[in-house]
Amino acid sequence: MTATPVAPASPRFGPAGRNTAPHAVPEGQDGMHWQFSNQLEMLELGDGSLFFDSIYADHRVVARPPEILRRILRMIENDKPTLCQIASGVAEDAPDTVLARIERLLKPFMRAGILVPLRDGTRPAWADDALVERFSTQLDWLVTLATGPQDHWDFFGRLRQAHVAVIGLGGAGSLLAQSLTAAGIGRLTIIDGDTVEPSNLLRQILYNPDQSGRSKAGCLAEQLERFSTHTDYRVLDRYVHNKQDVLDCIDGADFVAVCADAPRFVLNRWIDAACKENRTPYLSAFAGSVGPLYRPGAPGCFSCFEHRLREDLGERHDLLVDALAAKRSWRYPAFVSGPLTVAHLMATEIVLHLTGAAPPSTADGIVRFQHPHTVLEPFLGHPSCDCASGQSQPSVDPVAT
Ligand SMILES: [Zn+2]
Repeated sequence: MTATPVAPASPRFGPAGRNTAPHAVPEGQDGMHWQFSNQLEMLELGDGSLFFDSIYADHRVVARPPEILRRILRMIENDKPTLCQIASGVAEDAPDTVLARIERLLKPFMRAGILVPLRDGTRPAWADDALVERFSTQLDWLVTLATGPQDHWDFFGRLRQAHVAVIGLGGAGSLLAQSLTAAGIGRLTIIDGDTVEPSNLLRQILYNPDQSGRSKAGCLAEQLERFSTHTDYRVLDRYVHNKQDVLDCIDGADFVAVCADAPRFVLNRWIDAACKENRTPYLSAFAGSVGPLYRPGAPGCFSCFEHRLREDLGERHDLLVDALAAKRSWRYPAFVSGPLTVAHLMATEIVLHLTGAAPPSTADGIVRFQHPHTVLEPFLGHPSCDCASGQSQPSVDPVAT
């Protein structure tokens, strides 16, 4: 038996983006059970080749597999065996003599991520049956971002440990809170002083007409507690009026999601200042855009964004901020897909950041919704802002209104 080439097939369809770096082959494979990656399905084609069909665009093909390899792969597909069990299956009389050869034969499949250790074989003690049953398909998804056999548990463990604060529980914020709960975030603080109104329901689809006049934070908490007992909730039925309010609300949070929109700019300045003081990363939805994701010590923050706006508008920018802060009512055109899009994007970015599974797009960019187009605009901070130094100050002292 010699090593069989496992060649990438030409992309046919499907999204790119799966981590295609060579997978680490775990040491001490004797007692380890093996299975096909859940992202790949083995198909035996009429021309004799083996085609590994991927849900991503990285299909693999083995043009002329020896019969013994075909037999071994079928055993793995059906029984998820250990290498020793495979050896006993193919050479009943002298399994020890073929073990090393089987290992050599399968190593290219392990490196390509086609064969992966059986997940339950590495299940940590904190993952009880109820947790695994609820989050099983997400664990499968995390495997697609992994390069090592334990990575998906590490990623999920970080989500279980994480505490996210969501400021603003309108359309995007309420959907984001529910999405993060669905993803198994360990602790969630939800913050809003507003009440449910019939005119909200076009965009804020988790609330109901019979909740009219009730606190959004309270209504959403009822919904989330019914939805999942795997997350701890802290419910704050209140507005923030200054940086100190923000600090009180985000106490203990590992990440802050900003989905509130008033007072525009001023609120973002309070949050920017509070998060920099706490060295807490944040991601904002702001005026038809999401990002940049602020990380302490890296370029890109709300102050950078304002520096950019001042380059365009000069001192008018700050006059505009004053005028917006003075406004007491406003009405924007709305469509239900806006909050859904923002919440989807923010949930993905926050999960990528918290797990460390892959760099979020908004770590160095801003996603803008310019209907009918959505674009990712590179944003590497502003040279006048010192957020990257780790000792940054907001560009304008936030003042309470
Ligand atoms: Zn900055």
